[in-house]
Amino acid sequence: TSNAMPHAPCCVRTANWVGSAIDGLLCYCRAGFEPELAGELTERAAMAGFAGYARTERDSGFVLFVCDEADALSRALPWSTLIFARQKLRVFADLDMLDPRDRISPMLAALPQDIRFGELVMEHPDSEHGKPMAGLARSLGNALRPALRKAGALTREANPRLQRLHVCVLDGNHVLLAGSEPEDSAPWPLGIPRLRMHADAPSRSALKLEEALLVLLDADERKRLLREGMRAADLGAAPGGWTWVLTRHGLRVQSIDNGPLRQHVLDTGLVEHLRADGFAWQPQQALDWMVCDMVEQPRRVAERMASWLREGWCRHAVFNLKLPMKKRWQETRLCLDLFAQQAGRPLTIRAKQLYHDREEITVFVTPASAPSPAGGRGLG
Ligand code: SAM
Repeated sequence: TSNAMPHAPCCVRTANWVGSAIDGLLCYCRAGFEPELAGELTERAAMAGFAGYARTERDSGFVLFVCDEADALSRALPWSTLIFARQKLRVFADLDMLDPRDRISPMLAALPQDIRFGELVMEHPDSEHGKPMAGLARSLGNALRPALRKAGALTREANPRLQRLHVCVLDGNHVLLAGSEPEDSAPWPLGIPRLRMHADAPSRSALKLEEALLVLLDADERKRLLREGMRAADLGAAPGGWTWVLTRHGLRVQSIDNGPLRQHVLDTGLVEHLRADGFAWQPQQALDWMVCDMVEQPRRVAERMASWLREGWCRHAVFNLKLPMKKRWQETRLCLDLFAQQAGRPLTIRAKQLYHDREEITVFVTPASAPSPAGGRGLG
């Protein structure tokens, strides 16, 4: 299947609405992190040889990257390699000043001519301004879906192999139309996996590791790399959320923290609590996993994580890098480069700002020899 998005009719202007074809990427992010995402897209596009520019507004929860060669750019920047993008869509229309009495006709008119979408995803930015659009997005979707089917632009039954059509509602009279490739995008609306906090989880942080395992590993890796009887270390473990997640996969965990762990985590019989400094402690035998959620300067964490991989103390790792308030994209780049250099061995490194990450990103590392079905998912 080709993932080229045929051009929509350009710059149509009627008495009632203003629509313009726009070529580029629409990426969602945590509100407040638009400069980081814009910086990442701009730098990655330039490195891949594409001209373009980011259009962004602080706290909007999304970035538009405008580029004439958007299909090729999209292929050069796979979703899984973008750190600050929760979702990556191929945007093709920007419809503003829509008439509330008929928002559907302009949307139908702006669709690419010969694409049949397999699903319609109605969404809105995850921002203060965007969240109240959820109701409108839903009702608009209810009206649009049958109209799309009638026009032959949407399959009768959902078809997960075909491109999805995304309608991003920015305002009552302003929507963006975009498409996504199922194999190169987040499968969740808004790019947010809905995870329920388990009643037994010792902390909300447990959701961070659960999300990391869901987003940064594929299904095959989760099965192969997380098996009963494996051994792990958890640096900065208290009160025990991440340790608890690992024990639920049957791993035996050495949990390093001066703070206390919740009793029911210790009661699993799989956990050894060690009151030690996570920057000095090292395991006596090579472990399968190391996870680390210590709140510390990101460069210091990156360097310590690199020692673990270099010395072979663990095979796989998940760690957080807490980002400072300023120059967060540059700091991210710097820390990941530092880590890759100092680890000194071929690694697959995947990093994302997860939904449950606030001022931080999460990194997954595994030996590069491990087959990676998506191919080339390392940092660009
Ligand atoms: N991942 C944990 C969970 O899911 O419950 C939460 C970890 S909390 C964000 C950070 C922890 O790192 C704190 O409990 C703190 O005591 C610990 N920490 C910070 N610096 C540390 C160090 N040098 N050695 C060991 N633990 C450290």
